[in-house]
Amino acid sequence: MSLPTAVDCIVSAKWILPIVPAGKIFRDCSLVIHQGRIEAIHPTEGVLQEYSPRQHIELPQHVLMPGLVNAHTHAAMSLLRGYADDLPLMRWLKDHIWPTEKRWVDADFVHDGTQLALAEMLRTGTTCFSDMYFFPETTAAAVHQAGLRAQITFPVLDFPTNWAKDADDYIHKGLMLQDDYRSHPRIRIGFGPHADYTLSDAPLKRIAMLAEELQAPVQIHLHETAADVLQAVDATGMRPIERLLDLGVLSPLTQCVHMTQLSDRDIDLLQQSGASVIHCPESNLKLASGICPVQRLLDQGINVALGTDGAASNNDLDMFGEITTAALLGKVAARDATALPAWQMLHMATLGGAKVLGLDAQIGSLEAGKAADVIAVRLDDLDMAPLYELASQLVYNNRRNRVTHAWVQGKILLQDSQFTTLNIADLRNRARHWQDQIKPELPL
Ligand SMILES: [Zn+2]
Repeated sequence: MSLPTAVDCIVSAKWILPIVPAGKIFRDCSLVIHQGRIEAIHPTEGVLQEYSPRQHIELPQHVLMPGLVNAHTHAAMSLLRGYADDLPLMRWLKDHIWPTEKRWVDADFVHDGTQLALAEMLRTGTTCFSDMYFFPETTAAAVHQAGLRAQITFPVLDFPTNWAKDADDYIHKGLMLQDDYRSHPRIRIGFGPHADYTLSDAPLKRIAMLAEELQAPVQIHLHETAADVLQAVDATGMRPIERLLDLGVLSPLTQCVHMTQLSDRDIDLLQQSGASVIHCPESNLKLASGICPVQRLLDQGINVALGTDGAASNNDLDMFGEITTAALLGKVAARDATALPAWQMLHMATLGGAKVLGLDAQIGSLEAGKAADVIAVRLDDLDMAPLYELASQLVYNNRRNRVTHAWVQGKILLQDSQFTTLNIADLRNRARHWQDQIKPELPL
């Protein structure tokens, strides 16, 4: 008999939901993790004869599944959570968000807001996210330190902000950041042209050329509301997606966020170009923007990921909540209760999201060889009993936070609901500090 193989960690759980193979649930199995990767899924009975772990974690009431992928957010905006609500998109942006950002956003704001967001994301099961915000070098440093995985897109706009003065300046700073993180194992830098309505043709063309050359992702807000589509048609004679196609921006590297206003031709253009869609249902509902026709996009073979958008328009970064909303909204939008079933939603929030971010070879499912980006969800609460269908329970009855553990690349970042890389008391103090500065007159 051979000696057991030495490995870093074994996590033994009641269930493992690996996403691949589709619909599969392993019972009483263990996830074997070594050097940041998944070594095997092995029946718990006998696992210690095969492997000798440095650490053994037993989770008898939990399901292990891939960490969730939040494909669109503005992490630092968690400091503006609940700051301006019940407003339509353009008034919300122009009268509230943009002036407040001009007054307050600097590297300290982005550092503190991002850390607050990272804590919220970890606690709600997100291990990988895509960001678009000012001072992305600060965001990247915070992610590096906290240990999550991220696609960080640097913003590009025609007009000045506290981070850059014009489109060339944004691109110049962004390219320097991209160079700095070229070989980072967890952080990928991409282009974040804010939206078609905040960028003229020349920078969009330049972004298309550079993205192709660098094979870097491009994430853009697109067709968010009927008003912004109509405005584009008035100004350019083209719908925003037609203009992007015309400028060469639409490709498999392009991630279109929102897409609530889509004609048949828009959907054909998406399909032909290989661009993907990021669906942010709660933000779309809250800003009354519209509904992305997710089931139709999937039926046409378009990749769709799920995102929360920033906390200022959601108002949380809870991906399980977003999954529930997307499933319910998708059914009523398709007028079909079988649309967006539970398993499809879990796929969209894990492997589907990873695919849109170009990370599906590394993460998104629990398979040998992939990075150990894993979460554990506790399922023994009374209000989850009885438990007939695990996937349904996770999708339709998972409103409160039941995520207890999270690993990224094999490193434990949340253990028994406690952070290993973030200081919760410090985060609370800094959130309060910004609240007092931004709205000092508040009695709270
Ligand atoms: Zn957004």
